[in-house]
Amino acid sequence: MNPHRIAVVGAGVAGLTAAYYLQKVLPESEVIVLEAENQPGGKLITSPFAGFSVDEGADSFLARVPWGFDLCQSLGLDSELVSPSARNASLWDNEKLQPIPSPNVLGVPLNTETISDDFLPSEAITLLNGSGLPQQELPEGDLSVGQVVRSCVGDDVLERLVDPLLGGINAGIADAMSCAMMAPQLLEAARHPDGMLNHLRSLTRNADPNAPVFHAHPEGMKRLVDALVDSLGNSLKLNSSVKNISRSGSQWIIETAEEFESVDGIIIATPAFVASKFLETILPSAGETLGSIEFASAALVTFSFSRSNLEVDNSQSGFLVPRAAGLFMTACSYSGSKWAHLRHPEVEILRVSTGRINDDRHLKMSDDELVTELRSDLAVTLGVESQPVDVRITRWPNSLPQFPVGHVAAMEDLRMSLDQQVPGLLVAGAAHRGVGVPACIRSGKEAAHQMADFLYG
Ligand SMILES: Cc1cc2nc3c(=O)[nH]c(=O)nc-3n(C[C@H](O)[C@H](O)[C@H](O)COP(=O)(O)OP(=O)(O)OC[C@H]3O[C@@H](n4cnc5c(N)ncnc54)[C@H](O)[C@@H]3O)c2cc1C
Repeated sequence: MNPHRIAVVGAGVAGLTAAYYLQKVLPESEVIVLEAENQPGGKLITSPFAGFSVDEGADSFLARVPWGFDLCQSLGLDSELVSPSARNASLWDNEKLQPIPSPNVLGVPLNTETISDDFLPSEAITLLNGSGLPQQELPEGDLSVGQVVRSCVGDDVLERLVDPLLGGINAGIADAMSCAMMAPQLLEAARHPDGMLNHLRSLTRNADPNAPVFHAHPEGMKRLVDALVDSLGNSLKLNSSVKNISRSGSQWIIETAEEFESVDGIIIATPAFVASKFLETILPSAGETLGSIEFASAALVTFSFSRSNLEVDNSQSGFLVPRAAGLFMTACSYSGSKWAHLRHPEVEILRVSTGRINDDRHLKMSDDELVTELRSDLAVTLGVESQPVDVRITRWPNSLPQFPVGHVAAMEDLRMSLDQQVPGLLVAGAAHRGVGVPACIRSGKEAAHQMADFLYG
């Protein structure tokens, strides 16, 4: 039997993972990875800043779900992973930084001991001290995070805590977000006969409070990208932007500016709006589904300030800014407090973000304007008015997919119709299982296994 030829389009973490597992499950096959840019990794970029390797996008990944750690283990990187030194973050609320109540599940506090008097109204505290609001029968199926949380623990917890925390993940709005996609544990808890709060409390009762929440690599996310790329030998083709994909008999024809590739199977691991264009003629309904996914844009500006001008609370990893606060910035991470390997003797490194699904002012700003606006917010929140020692700007236009209610089912239907109507063509990436790095890894890994089933099933 001739060995199969399989292409992966896009060398972000989803595409690289797909290629990595393809080589494992189909060792006889030839795998090629076509990447439009001149470097692999997509949104995982690490570059030098203040003498360290500092990430320009994702800097860590969730430890609570298995896919990120499992991949690192398979690559032999697991023993090198680190977890944050400062585990708690704050919120900018009532003109000051307030610690986010702990423990909490996606912002829903499980006890009120660490909540200061002016953080939540007394009615909200009373609810949280008991079992929440009287349990309502929630409609079947997916619901918005807003609907679920408001119905169980009230508007204040949703607006002051859950919305800023979940909004920090994909720049979305909790009232518009699919709970099944973004917070399945809250949806399940809300429907539990014991009620959301009691069920979450019982789930976390035996949890190890010192278990790591996030993993990172001291060399940055680039280390993961490099390890994946190394495992691929010379299969990765950079500067190879795919222009068109078509079918010829049992083969897929992939067109770049330079050449045509003919393959037996293809995994499209580009952002959904790029995949949508490829699918427009192959399977228009799938193209339409992917094309309808909205994306938020973000910008991340990394600053270093002399420690003589800025002192941050080293017990905190940074802070989030709720929409209601009316600031331009959405979050600030204290890199040196969060990560021991980024603690600089002279400067404090801050990674400051802006951009929400309903706020893309940063897209229209020059670099100078962007920095000026963020510095003005840093003056308000941290009181730092001095010149930064160094500044690095990273823009992430259309980078964060939004997941409306029903998204999980829509992606399931999409995968099923691809499987039935264009077997051998699969999709992966942040739009499918979630934006987090582990979710992208999961989607790449699943696509690789599904490809093996298709070719040898
Ligand atoms: C500012 C920011 C901070 C984040 N922080 C975190 C975090 O701390 N933790 C976390 O878990 N997640 C974080 N995320 C989310 C996470 O980084 C991304 O969701 C994830 O990296 C996306 O991976 P992907 O492979 O799906 O897509 P991408 O990384 O977008 O990769 C897609 C690839 O396809 C390529 N491509 C596009 N068109 C073509 C074409 N025509 N031909 C060939 N190639 C093409 C692109 O160049 C790109 O390399 C963050 C995201 C952002 C923007």
